[in-house]
Amino acid sequence: MDGADIIAAIITKAEGIEKSNRAITPDEVKTLKAASFLRILTGETSMATTTNEEKKPSLAPNWSCKCENCGQTPTVGKSRLCGPCYFGEADMAGGNW
Ligand SMILES: [Zn+2]
Repeated sequence: MDGADIIAAIITKAEGIEKSNRAITPDEVKTLKAASFLRILTGETSMATTTNEEKKPSLAPNWSCKCENCGQTPTVGKSRLCGPCYFGEADMAGGNW
């Protein structure tokens, strides 16, 4: 086994853990951390797209909810605030984020 094989084996193992919906053991956490580090090293992913990024709540415009501050639609994800109220930028009106 050379270096590339070891990296591939760790990433394959991490993918198996990521796909399972059961609780993750401390050992598996180590594997996931090692895999995300290796993905960055091998250029498979950038620092900005590590696993934490995917767990952020969706900011998709929600047209069925009015802003509880000013009454505009759409609101940002489940925040109940429109773009300008949520982001503090008037340019964010009308789902423009
Ligand atoms: Zn608002």
